[in-house]
Formats: sequence, C-alpha cells, structure tokens
Amino acid sequence: MIIILMGPPGSGKGTQAVRLAEKTDLPHIAVGDMLREAVDSKSKLGKKAAEFMSSGSLVPDELTIDLVKERLSRLDCDKGFILDGFPRSQIQADALEEILDEMEYKVVYIDIPLEEVIKRNSKRVSCRSCRTVYNIDNNPTTKEGVCDQCGGGLYQRDDDKPDVIKHRFGVYVEKTKPLVDFYSDKDKLLQVSGLGGMDAVFEALLGVLEIAP
Ligand code: AMP
Repeated sequence: MIIILMGPPGSGKGTQAVRLAEKTDLPHIAVGDMLREAVDSKSKLGKKAAEFMSSGSLVPDELTIDLVKERLSRLDCDKGFILDGFPRSQIQADALEEILDEMEYKVVYIDIPLEEVIKRNSKRVSCRSCRTVYNIDNNPTTKEGVCDQCGGGLYQRDDDKPDVIKHRFGVYVEKTKPLVDFYSDKDKLLQVSGLGGMDAVFEALLGVLEIAP
C-alpha cells in the first residue's frame, strides 16, 4: 500500500504518519526529517538545504526528488510506504508519477484552516534526538522539556517561529495546495478534517483508507 499524506504545516500529518506506520508496518518516509538530519550532519545536501529550511521556503526540487528517489529504491519500501511531506510542488508530483510508474497509491489530504496552523505550530516542540513532535497545549510530554520516547531535549524549530510559519503557509498555498486538485482530478484524493483530536483524526484516516481499526 502506498499512502501519500498531504496537508498544511501543522495539520498533524507527521504525527498521523507515525501512527499509520505503526499500524500498517509500512516505512514512514518523512522528507522534512531526512532533510533536518542532513542539515545536522552537515552533509553536502544539508549545507545546500539549510538556508531554504530556516526561512520556511522549499528546498529545490532536484534535491528533494533525488533524496526521495534514493529512499524509495530501498528494500523496505517494496511492500509500500507512507510519504509525509512529498510531493510539495507540481514538479515533485510529476517526478513521483514517474517513480511510481503505474503503481496504485492513495492520497489523504488533512485539512485545517490558517488560524489553526499558526496556533498549532507556535505551540509545537520537537525532540532533538528522535524528532518526535509534541504540542505544549494538546500533546505535552510527561516531564516538561524532555522527550517521552527517548529522554532527549525538546526545542522549537526555527521554522516554527510565527513569521516563518506565515511564510511556510504562503509557500504551501502557492506551491503545494494546487496538488489537491491534481490528485482529485486523478481520482486519488481522500480527505479528512484535521480539526478533531489526534485519535479522532486517526480514526477518520483509517476510515477513508479502509484499514480496520
Ligand atoms: P516539514 O518537517 O515537513 O514541515 O518540512 C520542513 C522543511 O523542510 C520545509 O519547510 C521545507 O523547507 C523542507 N522540505 C520538506 N519537504 C520538502 C519537499 N518535499 N520539498 C522541498 N522542501 C521540503
């Protein structure tokens, strides 16, 4: 099964992708996490990607396409995968069509309005080690500032600061949102509201994907 999760920054797609991966035993391909790892390790890709990421812009298509192509060619993707954060532009969507060839896939769009995007992202903190994402208001850690999963320290990503969030949302509306129509025209699009709690959104996701709860 190939699942592509789409939605504005803060729609919860990363959190839902982790749960979906546990449920289906499919690999979770989180392109933002892969890019942050590249930045942290100061690799060639990381050095090129860093300035785009910290300003909330998209990393150039050719870099992300190569990254995803390589990741999807690995053995663990043979039985399917969950793509989180790709494609984010028409060029990436066209490249993905080529990569997938005629393989079947489903796209789920998690929809939330702009006010909620800003509210959620400004309350978002991430683990420096394992990158698990928390929300200070509605998904806090047991011990403040410490990751429940691995004990790592939490921080606010530079691109979760209010000005950058607004820019990220603008980039999303301009470059990524049009893909909703692209996939809808192909009859691939499923949609859930991202406004409920995490459990409600997950249940809705399982429902549209026809996965038994
Ligand atoms: P995310 O963790 O998915 O919110 O992504 C964080 C940042 O990584 C984005 O704001 C972009 O700068 C970059 N990024 C992630 N995925 C992509 C992509 N498919 N294309 C270009 N840039 C991306």
